[in-house]
Amino acid sequence: MKNFKFINALRMAVLGAALFLSACATRPLIVLDSGHNPVRSSGAISVRGINEVDYNDIFTGELERAFAQAGWQVVMTRKPEEDRSLDERAAIANETAPLVFLSIHHDSTQLENLAEIKTAYQPAYRTKHPIAGSSLHISIDNPHYDDSLRFATLVGEELQAVGRKFNLDHANPSYERPLPLVNADYAIYRHDLLRVLRTTTVPAVLLEVGVIVDIDDEELARNADERQKLISAIVKAADKYRKQTKASWRKK
Ligand SMILES: [Zn+2]
Repeated sequence: MKNFKFINALRMAVLGAALFLSACATRPLIVLDSGHNPVRSSGAISVRGINEVDYNDIFTGELERAFAQAGWQVVMTRKPEEDRSLDERAAIANETAPLVFLSIHHDSTQLENLAEIKTAYQPAYRTKHPIAGSSLHISIDNPHYDDSLRFATLVGEELQAVGRKFNLDHANPSYERPLPLVNADYAIYRHDLLRVLRTTTVPAVLLEVGVIVDIDDEELARNADERQKLISAIVKAADKYRKQTKASWRKK
């Protein structure tokens, strides 16, 4: 009797482990990358004098929770207190072979559009005229350019559906090196030289959530309700992308 109970318990444990493993195996995987580093290269400086990396970490942390709640496995390229090189970030994506790699940033603009201001923390800049909105960046050198564009387009569609505007500033023809627009409706740019996009061997997209040298867009980035709207839109886009994706490049 004792033996029977033990075998039954063992069977249940094995069955439980198998179910757990198969649930993990079927959960879609995304790698999230919070742009820049707390120590080395902290990115743009906002109108309020706050480093871009702080906005990236807040947004990416909330995005991680939303993806986990939606049933995704999430791998982060770094924790908020960690520094990671661009090559290390790409290596994490390549080793884990997710459905998609998404890098989160907050934007600035060219110096000619900016006026210098003083803040309590450090000298900063603000736009002379409104430059605001999200933009999406992909690289033709990524081996999954088409899938990267498909994911970026889905994110653009969902962001538009929640009323988000898009930032076409990078394509300004008066700039020395304007970025080519792939999709003007959702501000999807070819940004071929970005290392995390061109050295990743999985579909890869960089999202500039907003322009933190613009007063209104920085306020949007600080607003938890506004962030949640954008985050829900991104998760919805990823769910649509997952349903369309065969992911034949995946190792596991
Ligand atoms: Zn950045």
